[in-house]
Amino acid sequence: MSSDKVSSVGIVGCGIQGVCIGLQLLKKNIPTTIFDREEPGSMASYGNAGHFSPYAVLQLNRPDILYDVPKMLFSSNGPLALRWNYIPKMLPWILGYLKNCNQKSMMHTAKNMHQILNLSMEAYEEIFQEIDTTNLVDQKGIIYIWTNKNMKSRNLEIKVRDELGVKQKILTVKEILDLEPNLKPVFDGGCYYDYAYHARDPHKILKKIFDLFISKGGKFIKEDVNSIKQLQENETLIKTDTREYKFEKSVIACGAYSKKLTDQLGENIPLDTERGYHVHFKGMENLIKRPVIFLDRGFGMTPMNQGLRAVGTVELGGLKNPLSKKRINYVVNCAKELLPQLNDHQDEWLGFRPTLPDFLPVIGPSKNNKNIIYAFGHQHLGWTLGAITGKIVSGILSNEKTNLDLSAYSSSRFN
Ligand SMILES: Cc1cc2nc3c(=O)[nH]c(=O)nc-3n(C[C@H](O)[C@H](O)[C@H](O)COP(=O)(O)OP(=O)(O)OC[C@H]3O[C@@H](n4cnc5c(N)ncnc54)[C@H](O)[C@@H]3O)c2cc1C
Repeated sequence: MSSDKVSSVGIVGCGIQGVCIGLQLLKKNIPTTIFDREEPGSMASYGNAGHFSPYAVLQLNRPDILYDVPKMLFSSNGPLALRWNYIPKMLPWILGYLKNCNQKSMMHTAKNMHQILNLSMEAYEEIFQEIDTTNLVDQKGIIYIWTNKNMKSRNLEIKVRDELGVKQKILTVKEILDLEPNLKPVFDGGCYYDYAYHARDPHKILKKIFDLFISKGGKFIKEDVNSIKQLQENETLIKTDTREYKFEKSVIACGAYSKKLTDQLGENIPLDTERGYHVHFKGMENLIKRPVIFLDRGFGMTPMNQGLRAVGTVELGGLKNPLSKKRINYVVNCAKELLPQLNDHQDEWLGFRPTLPDFLPVIGPSKNNKNIIYAFGHQHLGWTLGAITGKIVSGILSNEKTNLDLSAYSSSRFN
């Protein structure tokens, strides 16, 4: 690997992508500053379901799901919901999504997700050697359950994962109940990834990575970034509410908020958000040993240190609409369907998955500004992909050669 030493990097966004990129840059001795208007890891990286899902190659841009969308949209009690006031603004994203719901795009996305998912745990394991993950990361596998109603979709998923060489174990109801005896058997079968890890507190893990970044000499500035631009060949400018900062190179890793900055750079990247929700059932985390996801319901439960975290639904409604009580009730009811012994919930949370219409992230240089690198749009898998994104983006920033084919993640696919 050859590398030309970069003198300084500024990263906008201290979610899991930003902090992992920062850490990798410091390992290459590149002085790095991360900006965030919030405390590190306060947004999507805070409240996710905590699954490390290297097996999750298939995304939502699929022909089979397309047929179910109208039915799901008009049911007030399904896994997908719309905030109708936002639909006009989201139209370009929706049209792009519909265009990508075909066999060819589905496989293109699956193969290119597989390329990075396959490296995701190795990249985290390197980080886990440097932070204390006691009681923060468990390796007890992850179970997906389903009813017989959508077997066409389940069979497609199993087939594609087989084709790509993803390890999976199909389970009967009895085998699932042997693993998770407290579940009410309202399902007909499932799939087990016995090698999968889950986070017991994503925010604490992120904080530990952040503390490591700081201990290695990284800087953090808690300010809102208003603009970013390339001034000349080796100079970029990050402008906050109060000051201007210059770096040789900069990174946009603002998750679902990245579009405000990429629009300023003259690129119309159709990033939008799939809103998701969580609640906790405190003291109930021991009812299951590992994450359980009910595919028909678009929801799952993870045993965490804060309680049993019930997470899910996809709501299309932008970044400004308030939290929906209906969606919270949906998640709560789904949890009680599987674990009727649950009672009151706490901590209602709304988060923003950053998603492109083809369900691939944007990783790579800006089209017009080669010293500004993008790292956003990791949709449902941003937690899993943090560490590997850190490695890839730090490699791009330091001009290293890679064996990976990064072309599918380029923003130029939208221009
Ligand atoms: C309900 C839910 C469940 C999920 N479950 C999983 C899961 O189990 N497994 C998985 O792999 N993924 C999961 N995800 C997805 C994952 O959480 C996200 O893809 C990931 O956290 C995105 O990370 P990020 O660093 O890109 O963005 P974020 O974590 O959102 O961080 C972006 C940061 O940028 C900052 N920022 C934005 N704009 C500016 C600005 N102008 N100036 C300064 N700072 C700015 C924000 O304050 C924020 O801290 C889930 C997501 C949700 C919502």
